[in-house]
Amino acid sequence: MNHVFNFSAGPAMLPQPILEQAQREMLNWQGTGMSVIEMSHRGTEFMSIAAQAEADLRDIMGIPPNYKVLFLQGGASSQFAMIPMNLLRGKRTADYVETGDWSSKAIHEANKYCNVKVVTSTKASSYTHIPAFTSWNCNPHAAYLHYTPNETIRGVEFPFVPETGDVPLVADMSSSILSCPVNVSQFGLIYAGAQKNIGPAGLVVVIVRDDLLGNSASGTPSLYDYQILADHQSMYNTPPTYAWYLSGLVFQWIKQQGGVTSLAATNARKAQKLYATIDASHGFYQNPVEPPYRSRMNVPFMLADKQHENLFLAEALESGLANLQGHRFLGGMRASIYNAMPEAGVEALVDFMQDFMQRYG
Ligand SMILES: *Cc1c(COP(=O)(O)O)cnc(C)c1O
Repeated sequence: MNHVFNFSAGPAMLPQPILEQAQREMLNWQGTGMSVIEMSHRGTEFMSIAAQAEADLRDIMGIPPNYKVLFLQGGASSQFAMIPMNLLRGKRTADYVETGDWSSKAIHEANKYCNVKVVTSTKASSYTHIPAFTSWNCNPHAAYLHYTPNETIRGVEFPFVPETGDVPLVADMSSSILSCPVNVSQFGLIYAGAQKNIGPAGLVVVIVRDDLLGNSASGTPSLYDYQILADHQSMYNTPPTYAWYLSGLVFQWIKQQGGVTSLAATNARKAQKLYATIDASHGFYQNPVEPPYRSRMNVPFMLADKQHENLFLAEALESGLANLQGHRFLGGMRASIYNAMPEAGVEALVDFMQDFMQRYG
């Protein structure tokens, strides 16, 4: 099969020029005669790769100097435990917002470490909207408030950033980081598994405000202690060096695209085209999420006639449109359209959907 448009939710497609650059540099990085995979993480070559990646990420996100940037292993899920271990700071309760399957998992894990107060939940209505912030039942003494700006599985996205005042705001941005501008200073901590909008799986990027460090719960493993990790520039042990390098290439690519603002405009157009196709199909395709909360990154849709789903997926693949099957919890279809998905990929999908509907509608 020739190159396909890959709509996988994660690990997801990477920009083609980045993969080509990695291929060119695979055996011999910048005349060193070595692959990045083979380099000591403490050597000057890798240290320069690591520092450049951090500098580029700081630049494209506008990360203020009083925030640490950590490149860690364990994926986004490791943070479900690391956050309470590090951010409770002697308190016993934390606020959590439940708007989908990922925030629900974060709540499940946090319950092992503290009293979780779920300040709002849309579970009973199958996670199809985001309740207005004014309706949340927040605790002004909570150690922090955790939420998931984009729920990858159901395709639900926050159209606002909660304003929690003195309570540090913690965001799982795994599937939305770098898709649009954010004001980092509104957050106490941002984390993101890399395999959606950054790079290879296994890496998780953590951006954390200085004053939240240094108060981990007793018994916290060194490898899970943000302060220790920050003191060692994420090299307390051997970091995921190749994933860090590839992520750095993606950050450079984002700069070449005109930065996050320019990607956000393309992302909005891509999502709009797909939702417009679904909504104009008179129910042939369906998306249950209320329009103001529809994700720009993950677009789930069902066929009114479930019997046609396998045919849809098989024919889509024949047309070079891969990995459109929905999450295993939900079935149906899901098109993940992260930064690396070109607008032409969405246009090809829209054309295919219209053609399929004409033949089977
Ligand atoms: C994918 C995802 C995760 C889990 O990431 P892992 O790296 O597999 O742990 C967590 N949260 C969100 C929002 C995700 O999209």
